[in-house]
Amino acid sequence: MDFEFNEEQRMLRESVRRMLNDVATPEYIRETDREGRYPYEVYQGFVDLGLIAMVFPEEYGGLGGNIMDFVAVSEEIGRTSYDYLGGYGLSVFNGLNLLHNGSEEQKQYYIPKLINGEIRMSISMTEPDAGSDAGAMHTNAVLDGDEWVINGQKVFSTGAGARDNVICLYAKTDLNADYKKGISLFLVDNTTPGLNLRKLDTLGRRAIGTYEVFIENMRIPKERLVGEVNKGWKYMLSGLQLERVMTTAGYCGAAQATVDLAVQYAKERKQFGHPIGDFQSIAHMLADMQTQVEAARMLMLKAAWEMSVGRDALKTLSMAKLMASEAYVKAANDGMQIMGGYGYIMEFDMQRHFRESRSTTIAAGTSQMQRNLIARQMGLNPR
Ligand SMILES: Cc1cc2nc3c(=O)[nH]c(=O)nc-3n(C[C@H](O)[C@H](O)[C@H](O)COP(=O)(O)OP(=O)(O)OC[C@H]3O[C@@H](n4cnc5c(N)ncnc54)[C@H](O)[C@@H]3O)c2cc1C
Repeated sequence: MDFEFNEEQRMLRESVRRMLNDVATPEYIRETDREGRYPYEVYQGFVDLGLIAMVFPEEYGGLGGNIMDFVAVSEEIGRTSYDYLGGYGLSVFNGLNLLHNGSEEQKQYYIPKLINGEIRMSISMTEPDAGSDAGAMHTNAVLDGDEWVINGQKVFSTGAGARDNVICLYAKTDLNADYKKGISLFLVDNTTPGLNLRKLDTLGRRAIGTYEVFIENMRIPKERLVGEVNKGWKYMLSGLQLERVMTTAGYCGAAQATVDLAVQYAKERKQFGHPIGDFQSIAHMLADMQTQVEAARMLMLKAAWEMSVGRDALKTLSMAKLMASEAYVKAANDGMQIMGGYGYIMEFDMQRHFRESRSTTIAAGTSQMQRNLIARQMGLNPR
């Protein structure tokens, strides 16, 4: 049993860290967060380093990497900014979904563009009345000659408003069928007439941003349907495992960065003539934070390994997602306590972790939904 990334993956992480240190300086991160500005320079860094190419097969211009490479990179990006990881991860897991389910023409057209940074991708599944219950979506697509006509509304579409973005949009194509048999997946340019975007004012993850999407009589060519009609639910589920392993790796990186920040502060800050880390109450808090992050990371690596050998990773992945997100929330909450008043001011990064972490037990499936999934895998039927 090997708990280490291999030499190549360690070098890859090192090059990601170097690029992020150069481009995503603390001031740059604070500015994009404060102003809600998309970090195009960082995204270009991902492209230039071949991080998008990495996971695609060579025949589409990729580098033939694997899930463990994806996880190593995602963890490293999350360490700098969980928000920025959204930009990278969305392009990769939606692109992989297209690779697995799209037509040959779609793959030849979109994947090289994704790899060279000409386009990026986002996902629009959630609607105002269809959150955890995604199958309850109302957005619908009707075939009219050679075009699909789409109407509806999406919400929380992360990165949807970025430049040159292609939205992977799920819509009902059979209103009478069960949701598992009546949803399809479409590729929609975010500048298509009939589509309007509104950026939401959020507590965290402000740079990549998350959007409301209003769709009124939007027409797209019929070739924009991915795979077969009414197979969207299946495609969505296959893509979700990739999304979850990426987000979970990012939570682990971000949670570790939070613990590191708190440890450094506890060693430097003196009160009553001692570093505050010498007080048992603070040291134990830090020990618990590190233990939880480490345990979550082990689960995440196990889930990634299961995926890499082609096993169904649903149960391990749900446990990993649950534990890593809650470890990040707790690390940021306790980290703020450890930093006292300084944790509460915008000049220090703990407040950013506090805000960003709060989305992690909600997005990509809430903690309650992860517990439901785990319980179902145990033969229970929670309502
Ligand atoms: C920052 C951010 C980014 C996001 N990015 C995207 C994106 O890019 N694309 C996209 O499509 N969506 C995205 N989402 C949406 C996200 O997937 C949903 O917010 C999530 O699925 C929960 O849906 P909801 O917010 O409507 O909450 P609801 O589903 O209304 O849930 C409210 C509460 O009820 C609980 N609950 C609901 N059903 C059950 C149940 N059966 N058992 C127990 N508890 C239950 C939930 O756990 C939660 O605590 C994003 C969300 C956030 C916050």
